Amino acid sequence: MVINVLPSLLAPAAPAISPLYDQHGRPLEYLRLAVTDRCNLRCFYCMPEEGIKYMPKHELLSYEEMLRLTGLLAGLGVRKVRLTGGEPFVRRDLVPFMERLAELPGIDDISLTTNGVLTAPHVPALARLGVKAVNLSLDTLDRERFFQITRRDELPKVLETFHALLDAGIQVKINAVVMDGQNIDALVPLASLSRDLPVDVRFIEEMPFNGGSHEAGPASLPWNHVRIRQHLEDHFGALLPVSMAAGATASEYRVAGHQGTVGIIAAYSRTFCGTCNRLRLTAEGGIKTCLYDQGVLDTRALLRGGKSDEEIVAALSAAFRHRAANGFEAERQRPLHQLSFESMATIGG
Ligand code: SAM
Ligand code: SF4
Repeated sequence: MVINVLPSLLAPAAPAISPLYDQHGRPLEYLRLAVTDRCNLRCFYCMPEEGIKYMPKHELLSYEEMLRLTGLLAGLGVRKVRLTGGEPFVRRDLVPFMERLAELPGIDDISLTTNGVLTAPHVPALARLGVKAVNLSLDTLDRERFFQITRRDELPKVLETFHALLDAGIQVKINAVVMDGQNIDALVPLASLSRDLPVDVRFIEEMPFNGGSHEAGPASLPWNHVRIRQHLEDHFGALLPVSMAAGATASEYRVAGHQGTVGIIAAYSRTFCGTCNRLRLTAEGGIKTCLYDQGVLDTRALLRGGKSDEEIVAALSAAFRHRAANGFEAERQRPLHQLSFESMATIGG
């Protein structure tokens, strides 16, 4: 399939801003923005089935507040923004928000991570906006298994989104969490999608981010990146490494004869921290400079406390400059480390 080059509505390129660097020499370039903590699925590795305490709406950042923060971060070097959640399309007026985001000087790449249930009708608007790539979370191609994992019978809608994205020429990256005893038999069928389609199928190590704790650490993970690769090579033969973009978390591979690629994200083994260029903003305005930290800055308090742009920029810069060296250090620094990790739905993945 040929990927169309779409006319982009993104703001014209602004003069390059030299990015802020942390004390380990890593640049700030990429913002992952959780626009909501709410979701229409209940993936068991992410959320409990019942008893979820969503934040009251007034405690979530408004779109205006997100735009102000993103604009300030663009001034510090951020040029790429990924919308996530919860499920981004559960929040009303997401597309108009994206249109305004695209107008911010310096932001030249907007993408999103979605479960695909509500996404298909919005695909033409995403294409018009110039969205180049969408990460679609999909752990199995089997409807019954999908229901067991997500506790909702929505696979047909997710597949509709998958095909709509391909038809619109938007690059699709499938994200599948690898779960022992749950979807191991789905790995080869999912990776096989890359044979005839120009998709990137990425397998993510399961992390203990569902309110539970994993005191034992990565050594206890039954399916780590090494075993996932071996499993795929047992079926497809050698996976040939392809060069990774700066700051990428996935190790990407080509399978002989496949149009697309497969990737493995060592999210729990944390092999990629040395080049991490990202910042996370949670739906209630918490800044995380590492997926594994417990939040290092409350931007909502700054925004609603009447702080000036200069004061907020100073706080953001200080937070980014003092990042943990890697996810293990960030985890050790958590006061809540002994208890549990929060749900990924509040962090955005
Ligand atoms: N709802 C959207 C979705 O599912 O694509 C966006 C938010 S979701 C939290 C972002 C990503 O985090 C998804 O690809 C999901 O599979 C991944 N994720 C959630 N919990 C995880 C866990 N415990 N381990 C590994 N990945 C996880
Ligand atoms: Fe929802 Fe995404 Fe979490 Fe699944 S992984 S429950 S779709 S936020």
